[in-house]
Amino acid sequence: MTLQIYRDLLEVMKGRGGPYAGIDIPEFFALVETIFEPQEAEVNNVLTRKPAPADEIAAKTTRGRQEVAAILEAMAGKGLCGIAKNGGNVFYRGLPFMPGIFEFLFIGSQESEREKTIAHLIQAYKKAHTAALGVEKIRFPLTRVITVAQKIKFGNKIHTYDQVMTYIDKYDAIGIGACYCRQAAKLRGEDLHGMPVGVCMWFGEIAENITERLGGRRVSKDEARGIITECEEAGLIHMSRNTSEEIDFMCNCDRWHCEVVGNVLKQPKPGLVFNSGFVPSVAGDLCAVCGLCVERCPPEALKMETAGPPAVNLDRCFGCGVCATGCPEGAITMENKADFPPPPKTTRDLVQAMKNSTSEHKAESKKSKTSKGRF
Ligand code: SF4
Ligand code: SF4
Repeated sequence: MTLQIYRDLLEVMKGRGGPYAGIDIPEFFALVETIFEPQEAEVNNVLTRKPAPADEIAAKTTRGRQEVAAILEAMAGKGLCGIAKNGGNVFYRGLPFMPGIFEFLFIGSQESEREKTIAHLIQAYKKAHTAALGVEKIRFPLTRVITVAQKIKFGNKIHTYDQVMTYIDKYDAIGIGACYCRQAAKLRGEDLHGMPVGVCMWFGEIAENITERLGGRRVSKDEARGIITECEEAGLIHMSRNTSEEIDFMCNCDRWHCEVVGNVLKQPKPGLVFNSGFVPSVAGDLCAVCGLCVERCPPEALKMETAGPPAVNLDRCFGCGVCATGCPEGAITMENKADFPPPPKTTRDLVQAMKNSTSEHKAESKKSKTSKGRF
């Protein structure tokens, strides 16, 4: 029988939002009863998105400060709550499933029976969630693609936020952890298509958290640059939050397992909701018509013409540059996409842009229903 504490947790995880916010289905309870001990569920249920110290959190429970502090530390070590530090003090915050708990659970690349069970339970929950609520429609992108900077055509405009190396240069603390999507797939025994797993990159305070508590590893700037090159050669897509100034992670995504790419590919025009602001340009005189770029392209945006270089479908193209890095003839360069808007500067701006887009959509739907009702 489900304990009341997990029923309360359902309401909390509904409120935390994200693509897999809590819903009342058996798969939700099977998952949370495995990842949260009852005392952790109780503490999770009083955490807020705003970080708070242990004594403030303890005051909302029936437990003492020391006990709650120990539970919070155990939760932080498993990726069940977020951490912020200020002047030697530690603050804890509640996390949604995504982005948050799902990613943090797998950063350390552990492969015990517990992780395998969790990988299956998460997949079952996500499938049931999608079956119940359908595919989430992207109105304003939460994430953006960052193209392969070395492949940008000479003379094109390149903002600092268009270059992965900007973030490596900017932060002293850089942490590497397992890609949650591929690590969970590996634990389920799925084919990884030769893609590397330990290549998710974290910057700044969050890098310290994942290396100190979650089994990630600290890397030098040189090692981080090497990992970026490895990802580009493998054909992974650089992806981060859709902001220009506040970036604290860099995912390197594939088409088979990545949550974000998978959801994008279910949209009617994937290239319009997940993009870098660049488009590939193929030099017909250099192209050997080998078809490698078509094979590498994650959203299948390229098609070979009958007797010539490939053509690009811009409704599908992400502007990732994976085709360009794989072209043996160096025939593909990336060019600025006309009238592509800059990303919101901060996370707050991004959240506002997403809210505005949802409100505009609701207003348009209402207007269209009203005008249909007149006839
Ligand atoms: S990989 Fe390069 S050479 Fe081969 S078809 Fe594509 S553009 Fe042409
Ligand atoms: S054509 Fe494909 S591989 Fe090339 S930039 Fe577009 S999405 Fe990426």
